[in-house]
Amino acid sequence: MGCALVTGASRGIGAAIAAGLAADGWPVAVNYRTGAEPAAALVTAICDAGGRAVALAGDVADPAVADSLISAAEDHFGQPLLVLVNNAGITADDLTPSLTDAAWDSVLNTNLSAAFRLTRRALKPMMRARQGRIVNLASVSALRANPGQANYSAAKAGLVAMTKTTAVEVARRGITVNAVAPGWISTEMTAGVDSALAAAIPARRPGTPEEVAACVRFLVSPAASYVTGAVLTVDGGLAA
Ligand code: NDP
Repeated sequence: MGCALVTGASRGIGAAIAAGLAADGWPVAVNYRTGAEPAAALVTAICDAGGRAVALAGDVADPAVADSLISAAEDHFGQPLLVLVNNAGITADDLTPSLTDAAWDSVLNTNLSAAFRLTRRALKPMMRARQGRIVNLASVSALRANPGQANYSAAKAGLVAMTKTTAVEVARRGITVNAVAPGWISTEMTAGVDSALAAAIPARRPGTPEEVAACVRFLVSPAASYVTGAVLTVDGGLAA
C-alpha cells in the first residue's frame, strides 16, 4: 500500500491530518521539530485506535532532512512513500518596512523550500510505483492580501505555483499534486487572533483542524484520482 508522511504533525492541522490518514488505513510518519511529547501521544492514540504510526524528529528547514525523513519512514514501515503532506509551517509577521532578512529567510525556507526538497525526494518512490499523492498546505494569504505577511504570503503563493507546475509534470505517471488553502483555523498558530475578526468570515467562525484534514483525506483518497493541480480553499467563504 505504501506509507504516508505528514510534516509538522505534532499539533494543529498536521496532527488532525495524520490521525485522519491513519484512520483511512495509511501507515503514517508523524514528523515534528520540537514537540516530541505531543507527537508521541498522537502516535499512541493512532495505534490504540488500530492504526500504524511512528514519530520522526526533523527540522524540515534543514536541507539534509528531506532525505533522512523519507528514508526513515520507508525503513520503519518497509514500504515506499506514496503520500506526502507538506504541512509544516511558521509565521514571522511584520509590516514590510520592518521585515528582517531573518524573518524572510526562515519563512521562505520552512514553508516553501522545504516543501520543494521533500517533493523532489518523494517523487522517486512515487514514480517507481506509478502512483502517489502530494498535498501542500497553502493559505488564503497566497490568494489575497494579509498585511504583515509579505514573507508568508510569498511562500504560500510560491507553494501554489509549485503545486500546479509539479502536478502537470507528473500527471501522466498516476501522481496527483494539490494544495489546500485554509483561512482562519483554530490552532496555536492563530492563538493571538482577535476573535472579533470572525465577523469578517462569511461562516462567522474559525475552522477546525479536522475540517482541513477532511479535505486532505479526500485529495489523498482514490475518489480524487482525477483532481490534480487544484487549490481547494477551506475558509468558510473568506476568499470567495
Ligand atoms: P501550528 O503552529 O499549530 O503547528 C505547526 C506545526 O509545524 C507544529 O507541529 C510544528 O512542530 C511544525 N513545524 C514548524 N516548523 C517546523 C520545521 N521547521 N520542521 C518540522 N516541523 C515544523 O500550525 P497550524 O497547524 O495552524 O498550521 C499548519 C499548516 O497550515 C501551516 O503550513 C500553516 O501555514 C497552514 N495554515 C494554517 C492556518 C491557520 O489558520 N492555522 C491558515 C492557513 C494555513 P513543533 O511544534 O514540533 O515545532
